[in-house]
Amino acid sequence: MLIVANWKCNPKSLTEAKKLFDSVAKGVKNIKKAEVVICPPFLYIASLGPGLKLGAQDCFCCGGPFTGEISPLMLKSIGVKYVMIGHSERREILKETDEIVSRKLKAVLGTGLKPILCVGSKSKNQKQEFKEIKKQLERALSEINKNEVKNLVVVYEPVWAISTTKGGKVATPKQAEQGAAFIRNNLFKLFGKNIAQKLRILYGGSVNSRNIKEFVAVDGINGALIGAASLNAKDFIKSVRKS
Ligand code: PEP
Repeated sequence: MLIVANWKCNPKSLTEAKKLFDSVAKGVKNIKKAEVVICPPFLYIASLGPGLKLGAQDCFCCGGPFTGEISPLMLKSIGVKYVMIGHSERREILKETDEIVSRKLKAVLGTGLKPILCVGSKSKNQKQEFKEIKKQLERALSEINKNEVKNLVVVYEPVWAISTTKGGKVATPKQAEQGAAFIRNNLFKLFGKNIAQKLRILYGGSVNSRNIKEFVAVDGINGALIGAASLNAKDFIKSVRKS
């Protein structure tokens, strides 16, 4: 299982980030069945570790005259292994288009890093949701060939199920299964059966230690992306243990 922590724009200080990272590293040290990746804000990455794999929550496609941006090569140079691309908060709030996502994805794969491509829709109507996911996948992967794709990880994230602490509804394992199957079927059409079978698909959306078991038990789901609940070391360690 691959368990990815998305800390988003948290915690508030490097001191807290180090404390959280070290607690998680200590807590999961002897759990061999899961690969754990922590994605902190850019600013903290180089100060964390060793003890756990590190990922970034985003990156730009290129180095050079791009004020404020971080390139895949820079991330690689400080030991980062994974990069999240196309998270719904970036698509929605920062207006990241499928074309931008596609360029970033190509650059991340080209650098030898592993992209964690997030796809999902705000719609609860499955027909509409799957139409949007198909478009997101096809556009993001339009420049990627069979030989390049093996490091890709895709996350199925129904947007309405993300961070539902304020009374929202978590997806059911059945919905997660159908979403993951739809994604794998599209990967199959794009890259063939042999490759599609091996690519990892995660579920993301209000996963925590109380519900992770149901999601990772689903056929075709190879792990979870955990946002809010990954900021609580105790709960995150429990989630990894239960995965
Ligand atoms: C996410 O950030 O992708 C996410 C799944 O967050 P949460 O676990 O808080 O829903």
